[in-house]
Amino acid sequence: MTATLPVEKKKLKHPPLDIHTLGDKVLRQPAKRVAKVDSSMRDLAYDMLKTMYSSDGIGLAAPQVAVNKQLIVVDIDPENAAAPPLILMNPKIIRASKEVCTDKEGCLSIPGVYLDVVRPSAIEVSFKDENGRPQKLQAADLLARCILHEMDHLTGVMFVDRVDNQLALNQELQKNGFSAGDVKAIAG
Ligand SMILES: [Zn+2]
Repeated sequence: MTATLPVEKKKLKHPPLDIHTLGDKVLRQPAKRVAKVDSSMRDLAYDMLKTMYSSDGIGLAAPQVAVNKQLIVVDIDPENAAAPPLILMNPKIIRASKEVCTDKEGCLSIPGVYLDVVRPSAIEVSFKDENGRPQKLQAADLLARCILHEMDHLTGVMFVDRVDNQLALNQELQKNGFSAGDVKAIAG
């Protein structure tokens, strides 16, 4: 059996969507639930994947392309042409481990900035797939981190809001042309 992938994992010279960057208001608005999974939502998910692969990302959330919907796409194995990506609509965390881990994160909306973020090591998430079918997924390590990062976008949270090391944060933002004033620190 050959799995048919919705989109080819390749870089396009002209990706279908524009990615908004830190400081842009669209990134700070809470996204609305997807009421109906139809072909327009599927096409949006596929365009998001094409845009993500074109930018060397491993995840993208709809608010990053200025769409106010609870939709994220994730692929932690972008070099593997045979591994299908994940498309999650209305994702919800059912369980998160007490155990946490720290790792560097980046974001296509804050290019060049990579900083340590603490997240639960493992999660269970429920969502609807691109065919509207309810699904559950257990994820750990990088996959859990990536899903949590993308889900943060759905509530208007950026990963830099979760960075503890203020000195490193300010340095990295400044170096890459972003303003520390656009960070909304989450009290930890
Ligand atoms: Zn991001």
